[in-house]
This record gives sequence, structure tokens and C-alpha cells, in this order.
Amino acid sequence: MGGLDLSEIDTGDLVREVQRRLECLSKPEKRLILIGPPGSGKGTQSPMIKNENCLCHLATGDMLRAAVAAKTPLGLEAKKAMEAGALVSDEIVVGLIEDNMKRPECRTGFVLDGFPRTVVQAQKLDEMLQHKGQTIDRVLNFAVRDQLLVDRITGRWVHPASGRSYHEKFAPPKVAGVDDVTGEPLVKRKDDNAETLKSRLSAFHAQTAPVIAYYKEKVVHIKADKAQGEVAGQVRRALA
Ligand code: AMP
Repeated sequence: MGGLDLSEIDTGDLVREVQRRLECLSKPEKRLILIGPPGSGKGTQSPMIKNENCLCHLATGDMLRAAVAAKTPLGLEAKKAMEAGALVSDEIVVGLIEDNMKRPECRTGFVLDGFPRTVVQAQKLDEMLQHKGQTIDRVLNFAVRDQLLVDRITGRWVHPASGRSYHEKFAPPKVAGVDDVTGEPLVKRKDDNAETLKSRLSAFHAQTAPVIAYYKEKVVHIKADKAQGEVAGQVRRALA
């Protein structure tokens, strides 16, 4: 088993993992896309969507930030656009998605968070899936007015390793500046400031909004300006 020693894993954890995998066997395949402006709650809802539907979570923003932090050639190429609040090239993000979709946990489906962000990316994704006889099942459109997003983004703190996010006023961690689960420090994203947000929102309206029209038969609109629990309820109903 690839050198993994199961005797080192806590029995309770092991039993829960086996139970989870057994429950997953009866879940239908699902291929989902989350679309929404920065701060609309895609990343917040993703763990619930992934866990309850037994999917893998692919967030191009998280992958790109990891590449920037690791100073890989891809990261170095993406860095400038990300810091300016502009989109990274379609070629880079399509390549990332193509590679990551091969992960075993993506076999029965995925939730794409922050991808596709252009119509070209959507077309490439459709081609990729067509080759495997697969298709996108549903596209959740997290709709929020731009004015609300300034407060959400400027007060945001994230735990880079897990992608978990907090808000200093609306969803504070138990201890300020520290991740609830790991106790590791939280950071502010470089692009989470009012100035860069303007560029990110223009990129969203100009380049990503057309993706909603592209998938119009599959889109479910989510009122993402509501509280976290209420949005989760809308998402569950949309996927039922
Ligand atoms: P996010 O974490 O989704 O807000 O993404 C952060 C930044 O990564 C964006 O502002 C873009 O510069 C870049 N990025 C993430 N996903 C994509 C994508 N699908 N296409 C192009 N650029 C992306």
C-alpha cells in the first residue's frame, strides 16, 4: 500500500473514513461549476458541497497561489496578473484543471471553484469532458451586488494550506489571526484590497459573466448576499 502503515492511523478516524467511502458508493456522479464574483462565498460553500456529494474540489485560485508561493515557472508567470487583479492566461488554468482532474478523488465528480472564468475556458472544459463521455450537470451562479463585496473582501483572512476563510466582523476565527482547525496563522491575500478588487470585479463582469449565459440551461441562481447557512440551504436545494 505504497508504504502507508494503517496501524498508525487512529481507529476512530479509520472507521469514519471507511463509513464515508461506503456512503459515497451510493451517491450519483456530479460535475459542478461555481461561478460568482470574488467574495461571493464559493470557497466558503465548497467544503460542504464536496463532502456531502463525495466530490473533489478544484479551485484554480488556490492552485495558482500555491504555485506562486513555491516560485514554480508557472507561478512566476501567473504572479503579475494575479497581483493586478487580472485573469491568468486560459492556457495556464486549463492545463492546471486538466492535470488535477486526473486525481482519483475526481473520478465520480468535481466541484470547480473559480473555473471556467472565460468562455474559452468553458469550451475547453466541455471538450475535455466530451472525450470522456461526461458533461457538466449544474452551474451555481452566486449572485451578489458589487457594493457588498468590498466589506467582505477587505475583512477577509485565509488559511492558505486549506483555503478556509474567515471575516474579521462577519465570521471571525475563535482566536484572532489563527485558524480554528490547525491553530496555524491566518494571512491576508495580497489581492484582497479595495483597489485590486475593482480590477477583479471588472474582469468578472467583462470576462466571466458571459460564462453564465454560455451554460444557461444548467444554471441555478443562488442569492449569495444572504447569511452563510441560508446560502448553504439554497445550494442543497439546487443540488437535490
Ligand atoms: P480566486 O482565488 O478565485 O479569487 O483567484 C485569484 C486570482 O487567480 C484571480 O484574480 C486570477 O488572477 C487568477 N485566477 C484564478 N482562477 C482563474 C481562471 N479560471 N482563469 C484566469 N485566472 C484565474
